[in-house]
Amino acid sequence: MPSDKPISWVRGEMYETLCLLVIGACCWLIGITLGAFERISGFILANTLTDFLMLATCMGLALLGASTRKSFVLRRIMLERDAAAKQAEAIARHDALTGLANRRLFLEAVEQHQKSTGCEPLAAVLLIDLDRFKPVNDLYGHAAGNAVLCAVAERLQAHLPRQGTAARLGGDEFAMLIQLEAGSEGLVRLVEQVIASIAAPVLWNDNELKVGATVGVTFVTAEHADADAVLHAADLAMYQGKKEGRGTFRVFKSTMDAELRARAQMEAELRVAIEAGEIEPFYQPVVALPSKELIGVEVLARWRHPTRGLLSPSHFIAVAEEIGMIADLSYSLIRRACLDAREWPAHLTLAVNVAPQQFQDAWLSERILSILTETGFPPERLEVEITESALIQDLDATRRTLTSLQNLGVRIALDDFGTGYSSLYHLRELKFDKLKIDRTYVDSVTMSDERAKLVDAIIKLGSSLGLVTTAEGIETEASSNWMSDQGCEFGQGYLFGKPMPKAAMNDLLDPRSAQGAVDATTSEAA
Ligand code: C2E
Ligand code: CA
Ligand code: CA
Repeated sequence: MPSDKPISWVRGEMYETLCLLVIGACCWLIGITLGAFERISGFILANTLTDFLMLATCMGLALLGASTRKSFVLRRIMLERDAAAKQAEAIARHDALTGLANRRLFLEAVEQHQKSTGCEPLAAVLLIDLDRFKPVNDLYGHAAGNAVLCAVAERLQAHLPRQGTAARLGGDEFAMLIQLEAGSEGLVRLVEQVIASIAAPVLWNDNELKVGATVGVTFVTAEHADADAVLHAADLAMYQGKKEGRGTFRVFKSTMDAELRARAQMEAELRVAIEAGEIEPFYQPVVALPSKELIGVEVLARWRHPTRGLLSPSHFIAVAEEIGMIADLSYSLIRRACLDAREWPAHLTLAVNVAPQQFQDAWLSERILSILTETGFPPERLEVEITESALIQDLDATRRTLTSLQNLGVRIALDDFGTGYSSLYHLRELKFDKLKIDRTYVDSVTMSDERAKLVDAIIKLGSSLGLVTTAEGIETEASSNWMSDQGCEFGQGYLFGKPMPKAAMNDLLDPRSAQGAVDATTSEAA
């Protein structure tokens, strides 16, 4: 649709001009009536002006006056518009809450450094991500969160060297661009100071709000295609720091990118594998000491990876925990193991590992009960192994879960004893049925007197609390004999059999099989 704006503008202008001409004519009329022109012309122009010339002059003066006024108004509007544009620009380049540069301005600053100086002097980008900011926000509300963000911004400004830029990139993510005139010396100190200053509490409404910071550092070099690439590198380094324990910093290395990609691929593959039930239960024999008679098995997860072969839990259990799929993996394994073990002699127990995270689930015992019911596996044959790290989270919740599992008839073993807190308090507070002595102790008992004394004390402690003990990782006859002599009831380790798939376990249990004991060298590879 054609706009009618120009037409109305022309009309408006014509109307205004007409009005001004009329005003000029009116002035002329008034001038004639009062005889003013005779006096003026007599005085200034020596009677040379005619009345018509005076009319034109009046009209011209009216037009000139109006256009002068108009140009003043226009100029004022332009100045106002310029100021508004500048303000809009400033808003668009700064973070409204903290007043720091925003992502856009920060990227421009990095880009400018890359272009104008050919990356000289050396500059570094710090990507600062707050730790534990979410709990502050959730617990005290957004006003408290904002107070923390503003305090962090102030602290960053305080540490910002000359010609540096501090920015809030969004959320709880900040960045600094720092020119290192004297080389990279002093950078580590600066980063440590930044981390320490952020860790200092923020006072808000009589509350001490505490957050931390993990920092990723990268140097701005010609290798980075653009400012985004610089920030990406700092981000990878920061992510590495988060993974390795927060409240710290990491400097970017070119291998990080590849690692991160590999990790993302691994996560995606693991998700698919867990959903498709591709994680398989392997079984490791547990024997009575000293008879070496098989009394049960421990279920250990294995992943038959399509390209990487058989993977042990160290490759994927922690990843499954991080992506929140450990419970799915665990229940699927327990279900398969219960189905497998149903076919085995009824006296054999099945020990399953349950991750600390799973003990936070109030429905854990119900879920296990439902698997037992579904598979028809007797609860008395099941043993749940937990590590001490599960106990430090919420002791009351853990106690409730343990009690309800034990009420079903399931037994509970404290796994890896000696590696964690090994607290007597836990042993007294919670009722376990079994202690499993970690293999790091077991394999050294015959070599170190000190170790031997410690393990002896653990076995005695267990029996004084009415617990039976299993020694893990028995690899030699010597340690098996030693354990048995100290009164350790059960043993597990390569001496008695490596973890093996269901088929190998079936062979082992087959009375027609002459094998009797498992060939430790072949079982894992089956
Ligand atoms: P764990 O529960 O302490 O299991 C015993 C580990 O010691 C197993 O390693 C087993 O293969 C290894 N082992 C047994 N005997 C010997 C021995 O004589 N010598 C040596 N050097 N090693 C021996 P694996 O299968 O790699 O499992 C490692 C850990 O992964 C397990 O330690 C357990 O904590 C965890 N894990 C395994 N399966 C699961 C699972 O389904 N869920 C959870 N949450 N954790 C699991
Ligand atoms: Ca275990
Ligand atoms: Ca263990």
